[in-house]
Amino acid sequence: MAMAIDQHATSEEEAMMLAVVRDLVSEKVAPRAAEIDESGEFPWDLKELFAQNDLLGIPIPEEYGGLGGSFVTYVKVVEEIAKACASSSLIVAVQELGMLPILIGGNDEQKKRLLPTIASGKKIAAYALTEVSSGSDALGSMRTRAEKQGENYVLNGQKIWITNGSVADVVCVFAVTDPSAGSRGVSAFVVEKGMPGFIVGKKEKKMGIRGSPTVELVFDNCVVPAKNRLGEEGEGFKIAMKVLDKSRPGIAAQALGIAAGALEYATNYAKEREAFGKPIGQHQGVGFMLADMKTEVEAARLLLYEAARKCDTGAPDVSLWASMAKLKCGDVAMSVTTDAVQVLGGFGYSAEYPVERMMRDAKITQIYEGTQQIQRLVIARAMVGKR
Ligand SMILES: Cc1cc2nc3c(=O)[nH]c(=O)nc-3n(C[C@H](O)[C@H](O)[C@H](O)COP(=O)(O)OP(=O)(O)OC[C@H]3O[C@@H](n4cnc5c(N)ncnc54)[C@H](O)[C@@H]3O)c2cc1C
Repeated sequence: MAMAIDQHATSEEEAMMLAVVRDLVSEKVAPRAAEIDESGEFPWDLKELFAQNDLLGIPIPEEYGGLGGSFVTYVKVVEEIAKACASSSLIVAVQELGMLPILIGGNDEQKKRLLPTIASGKKIAAYALTEVSSGSDALGSMRTRAEKQGENYVLNGQKIWITNGSVADVVCVFAVTDPSAGSRGVSAFVVEKGMPGFIVGKKEKKMGIRGSPTVELVFDNCVVPAKNRLGEEGEGFKIAMKVLDKSRPGIAAQALGIAAGALEYATNYAKEREAFGKPIGQHQGVGFMLADMKTEVEAARLLLYEAARKCDTGAPDVSLWASMAKLKCGDVAMSVTTDAVQVLGGFGYSAEYPVERMMRDAKITQIYEGTQQIQRLVIARAMVGKR
């Protein structure tokens, strides 16, 4: 029997995958979400579940062990997981972020050597760009150095805020190879767990996404074989920028999922909870709030799916669309989760109800992978240019 095509699915294959993901989320992810937040532990069981269901290599080409799926499908999967658990959605999103430098900047040998184990989930990937004195201006103020010594590079420096850094087997690290060349002197390297001088530092205590480990990474005379340099020396900047074009829609999808999850919870609550003799959703003040939340979520979704489509087609304006999607979805996540707390009144402020966690989780989507201010810079520059 032909299955009902999902409202948002672009093919039967995608509809089937989303149906599987929805079942996994309702049976295995949603019941764990509050406890993952409470414990702050990385959910290894869910990482395994996602690996078994081929969710960790969706946009990786089949020849490198992935599903060869579209970015559109990938963002919808992240969205579905984030509806229930933002921390768990990052397992999929950061696996993609960590593998993109290899997919974009790697040669065929590197892709064949490194991508299959990432696609299968046997190895976890991470992405290390940010440093203590360089966040938004990540490439201009970078301090981590990589010096060529024979057949190796020796890395020295420190990265901070690295998602999954403590659980990763493969970390794409950006470091300066030519200090006189500014951002054109940055190169990209794959550092693998166990390489001498690769040290996991302190773990951050965070407001939200508490089940996603964020750590400091230290490189103390860390020896990395030259065969692990991605692209030519000095191409790190180009690789990092191209990665962001394809990874920002993943974070936008996380944001959209958080917003959609909060909207669904608040809507159901507004149908049940009564005040002044009728369900609170029947009071215009609450009904209009829900109407605005719904409109914002659907508008953000259309923007995101278009940005993901542009990732798939290699559209020349993909940076603009990736930034617009990240900006809109992040802001919608924050406003919709804040309003969801309002709809639940005092119960919304309690950790017993999921919208409290969703509001805390939403905030990060306005900060990482470029703050909302940086997205506006990218958008404005695409519109009016830059001197
Ligand atoms: C939980 C978490 C996970 C993260 N995961 C990763 C990861 O996996 N890998 C990684 O490399 N990094 C990661 N990051 C780092 C993240 O990308 C940076 O925190 C972010 O880019 C902002 O940099 P910053 O914190 O140094 O802020 P700053 O750059 O110091 O910015 C501070 C404020 O100034 C504003 N600002 C800065 N420059 C401008 C400007 N030109 N115009 C207008 N406003 C401006 C910013 O918008 C912000 O509001 C993570 C961060 C967090 C909190």
